[in-house]
Parts: sequence; structure tokens; C-alpha cells
Amino acid sequence: MDKEFEITHTQEEWQERLSKEEYHVLREKGTERAFTGAYWNHKAPGNYLCAGCGNELFGSDTKYESGTGWPSFWAPLTPDAIGTETDYAFGMARVEVHCSRCGGHLGHVFSDGPKPTGQRYCLNSVSLEFEPES
Ligand code: FE
Repeated sequence: MDKEFEITHTQEEWQERLSKEEYHVLREKGTERAFTGAYWNHKAPGNYLCAGCGNELFGSDTKYESGTGWPSFWAPLTPDAIGTETDYAFGMARVEVHCSRCGGHLGHVFSDGPKPTGQRYCLNSVSLEFEPES
């Protein structure tokens, strides 16, 4: 990640702030195993925040059942909450999704999502923190 983000920490600082799993996904672009995360089947109303910096990323209004075992959304809360970058890991071109404030890796976006956007933001539960609607 070469971009400048509003929130930056050294590798050591991130390791102190995050759990091992969070660090692996957010800072090393890891992926949690399908159907193992806290939010793939989570349906309560509220917002999903970045586990790295608390940025408000996605809302329950655009969350849907994708059948993949990862929390899936058809749009972010605001277009500038996230950033995207083409990633060529594992020999495939995929569009990586990250938090626009700290650069933390969230997952990938695919164009096989539902209406109205046709987008499927396929995220890791570990990257997210749920804030219930008050
Ligand atoms: Fe963040």
C-alpha cells in the first residue's frame, strides 16, 4: 500500500492495536475462512465500522444473503468510505476493497451482486465491527 491515508501506523503499532486475526486480514490482506466469521449470517440493523480505525463503512440496509459465507453488501454507506485497487494475487485480477481512512483491507468487490448496483462487496467479518442501531 503506497497511498497516503489519514490514519497511519507503523507495522509494530498495528500489531499492538489489532488482534492477530485482525492484523492478518487488515494489514496483510488475509481472508477469513468462509462461514467462520461473526457477521456472514448477522441480520441486526446497524452499521459496520472498520475494525482498524472505526470509519463507518457499510450499513445493514445494503447487506444481503450472498450464500458465500462472508458478509456481503451491494453498496458502501458513502462512496468515499472505501477505496478499491486491482489485485493480482493468486493469478487472478480482482478488485480489492479497503478502508479509505486507514487503508485496512476489507475484502473484494465483484460485479455479480443484486440490484440496484449489481455489485457484491464480499468482506471479512474480522475487518468489521458492528454498531447496533440505537
Ligand atoms: Fe479503517
